[in-house]
Amino acid sequence: MGEHSYDIVIIGGGVMGSAAAYYLTRADERLRVAVIERDPTYARASTTLSMANARIQFSLRKNVEISMYALEVLENFETEMAVEDRKPAISYRREGNLFMVDADGRDDAEAALAMQQSLGCRIEWWTPEETRQRYPLYDTNGYVGGTFGPHDGHFDAYAFLMGYRAKARSQGAVFMEGEGSEIITQHGAVAGVRLQSGDVLRAGVVINCAGAWCAEIAATAGIELPVQPTNRQVFALDTAVKPETPLPLTVLPSGLYFRTETGGLILLGKSMPDDAVGFDFRWDDKRFMDELWLELATFVPSFDRLKLVRGWGGLYAVNTLDGNAIVGQWPSVKGLYLANGFSGHGLQQAPAVGRYLTELILGRPHVLDLSIFDPQRIMEKRPLTEKGLV
Ligand SMILES: Cc1cc2nc3c(=O)[nH]c(=O)nc-3n(C[C@H](O)[C@H](O)[C@H](O)COP(=O)(O)OP(=O)(O)OC[C@H]3O[C@@H](n4cnc5c(N)ncnc54)[C@H](O)[C@@H]3O)c2cc1C
Repeated sequence: MGEHSYDIVIIGGGVMGSAAAYYLTRADERLRVAVIERDPTYARASTTLSMANARIQFSLRKNVEISMYALEVLENFETEMAVEDRKPAISYRREGNLFMVDADGRDDAEAALAMQQSLGCRIEWWTPEETRQRYPLYDTNGYVGGTFGPHDGHFDAYAFLMGYRAKARSQGAVFMEGEGSEIITQHGAVAGVRLQSGDVLRAGVVINCAGAWCAEIAATAGIELPVQPTNRQVFALDTAVKPETPLPLTVLPSGLYFRTETGGLILLGKSMPDDAVGFDFRWDDKRFMDELWLELATFVPSFDRLKLVRGWGGLYAVNTLDGNAIVGQWPSVKGLYLANGFSGHGLQQAPAVGRYLTELILGRPHVLDLSIFDPQRIMEKRPLTEKGLV
């Protein structure tokens, strides 16, 4: 057992922790930053189990701005994260996101579209005929149109994570294998982190980046976070009929979503009200067979013949107050920062959140102010509104 001193300790080395470590050490190379990660294989991290999609189409303006920065970062990621002559290969595919709109959703979709366009985003409104022209396999009966983001796309989440991690290490961040068991506080301020091993990492700043496990570690500092780990399932399908061009991430009003995966498979998922709460990584082929296949085949009739080849279960860190991120300093514990509760969109939010936390901690002006996600609202139980996020 021993004690070590750092300026900043980050609990959790997934995409949030690694991006934060990258931005901090980029801003000031003298900072002593330690990242504690329990499982460096990331087998159960949400980052590596995600759909790895980035999209402009949110209805909360700030989320749109966050994604605008994400798309910029993705564009240059491989060059910016190069360490000497080693570049990460993130395979960023700009295959677009298409949200189908029915009569009930029209007003909301038009309002979101107008807001996104006012920010300079190229989001298009497609009639059902235009949608069918581009994607002839789709049956658009019952829809009034769709909104399409041509710059959206998916990428290799593991390579993205490794890119941040390697670059942060090259800038001096220390990644250590270990489990944070207690956030140590003294007189209303953070003093460090105790590890399961008994070692203590002293620091005046601690960032909770523990993903779906964030409420457990926050509780050790007396904080009750309304964030629940929630099982979400993804299915990989080998369809008999192959689309001629890759299918964008297509989202139906019910929340069913699917897209082409590299190798010609289709990935599909849907958040369901009975998704298990807890650290449950199961996936169930019956769910696809009995509940989702018919819905898919109604929209894409030629997908009535397919093979379910595999699936997986991962965790959303669901903020049960409002489904949005919790980012900033916890009001009653000086030096304790949170980057939690990202539900199904944290991968694309990591660049903006990492940069913002760095500015906050170092007292620098904000390029993109994310103070609407401040933890104060959690204490005051004052939800932000964003449709269709949880
Ligand atoms: C099925 C699915 C699909 C998704 N699709 C998308 C998508 O398309 N686009 C998008 O933007 N987002 C998506 N997400 C959400 C996204 O994956 C997450 O919001 C994001 O990865 C969260 O990153 P994180 O670093 O906070 O958490 P994680 O990646 O889970 O990392 C947290 C890390 O903390 C470690 N840890 C936890 N507790 C401790 C402790 N006490 N001590 C040490 N280490 C600890 C864990 O081992 C873990 O590695 C999806 C998620 C799922 C499950």
